[in-house]
Amino acid sequence: MDRKVRVRFAPSPTGALHIGGVRTALYNYLFARQRGGDFILRIEDTDSTRYVPGAEEYIMESLEWCGIKIDEGVREGGPHAPYRQSERKEIYLKYALQLVESGNAYYAFDTPEELNTLRAELEAKGETFCYNHAVREQLATSLRLSAEEVEERKARGDQWVIRFKMLENEVVKMDDLIRGHVEMNTSTLDDKVLYKSADQLPTYHLANIVDDHLMEISHVIRGEEWLPSLPLHYLLYRAFGWEESRPEFAHLPLLLKPTGQGKLSKRDGDKLGFPVFPLRFVAPSGEVSRGYREDGYFPEAFINMLALLGWNPGTEQEIFSMDELIEAFSLERVGKSGARFSPDKAHWFNAQYMHTRDNEELADIYTAQLAERGINIEREKALRIVAQIKMRATFPEEFWSLSSFLFKAPAAYDEKATKKYWKPDAPRIIGELKTLLEGIEEFTTENLEKVCGEWIAANQIGMGLVMNAWRLCIVGEPKGFGMYDMCAVLGKEETLRRLNAALATLPQVEA
Ligand code: GLU
Repeated sequence: MDRKVRVRFAPSPTGALHIGGVRTALYNYLFARQRGGDFILRIEDTDSTRYVPGAEEYIMESLEWCGIKIDEGVREGGPHAPYRQSERKEIYLKYALQLVESGNAYYAFDTPEELNTLRAELEAKGETFCYNHAVREQLATSLRLSAEEVEERKARGDQWVIRFKMLENEVVKMDDLIRGHVEMNTSTLDDKVLYKSADQLPTYHLANIVDDHLMEISHVIRGEEWLPSLPLHYLLYRAFGWEESRPEFAHLPLLLKPTGQGKLSKRDGDKLGFPVFPLRFVAPSGEVSRGYREDGYFPEAFINMLALLGWNPGTEQEIFSMDELIEAFSLERVGKSGARFSPDKAHWFNAQYMHTRDNEELADIYTAQLAERGINIEREKALRIVAQIKMRATFPEEFWSLSSFLFKAPAAYDEKATKKYWKPDAPRIIGELKTLLEGIEEFTTENLEKVCGEWIAANQIGMGLVMNAWRLCIVGEPKGFGMYDMCAVLGKEETLRRLNAALATLPQVEA
């Protein structure tokens, strides 16, 4: 029987969550949802030196904004609670000792000074220091000390760590769902610390494996930076006798800089003007990092963009809702090589979602923006305006500049546009148009279009000629949206007022 899919996103709360981390969470989530599995959020906070207050809340708020729902986690609870490693402290020592017992790990009492001396000795001989089989027998470890000595040292309060006894020369054979079969020789690997008496905490490797086992994780989907740890993780599963239930692994490709050279960093974002974090983050130092949310991105657009950074559907389709992603996603279609981040593409995605956004939602944003400027308009009018400007906007913050002319008649007329569009015929045509508009009772888009369309056709006036001149009178520059829509929003009185003002101000051009 296939085992139940259970995946986890296991961030360390060391600062703002990079968008690469959000993508990892997203892929885990898509995979779990598609297979009717569980998505678990586990907070890996065993490294107290790197702990940043507020980072955990930031992670949860980010996932929530993205629409990634957690089945089991710190807030949600679940059958394997607690889900914060610092609250699981008591669990890990037992497992570390189990490995010492079975000969897969050992106590090490060496002090930093001792290690420095040994390092200096080796370097003097032109060798590099690596804590492994070559040195472990020479150091104060339980491999050399007698059981009594070990107990004595522990009893007198010496600090100790438990290290994994890495095999000397073995090829570890591993399988990765994205990279395929991978082999690595253990000779280059060191004896990683698994547990420290100083803070009575496990290190990442031990806590991660033990928790994945206890939480019945079926698939580990994580960033490529963890691939070098995979041999150790395989060996830990073997040492514990948990090979049967070892999860399957998938290591995701890196997110690359827009140039394609190197990992996408916060510095790239600062330099090129885009966020690398989902939400704005204020570090304890006071440093502020911008976020996609605060920059005006829709969570759906952000998620859609991230999903396609590393995964491709194998078709031309680019716009995917979360449900469509859940259906289409597969680890087989995740690439092996890094995915290049493109700020332009991020804009493009947001524009696509903007164009199809619900007018009611946009009208809320818009009326709030207007209220800040002391402007109140009717709901129905706000709905009509956003229906137009959303087609020309990428971010909500553009709404004002795309519509400010509706609230302020032109104080001047753009020189270039006047030269170009205020043709010798224009004063006459606009004069006639004015008379025509004066006679229209029902000042709606549809009616304006009908009446003006018939007039243009009947008089054989060039469409461009009327529209450009008309726009100049109403907006003062070649901006805005559809003429009929604009005038319908402005209303008859204001439209006529602007036409009169333009006719009085714009020059009578000689033919
Ligand atoms: N705590 C690790 C991190 O911050 C988790 C790595 C893993 O998923 O195994 O990325």
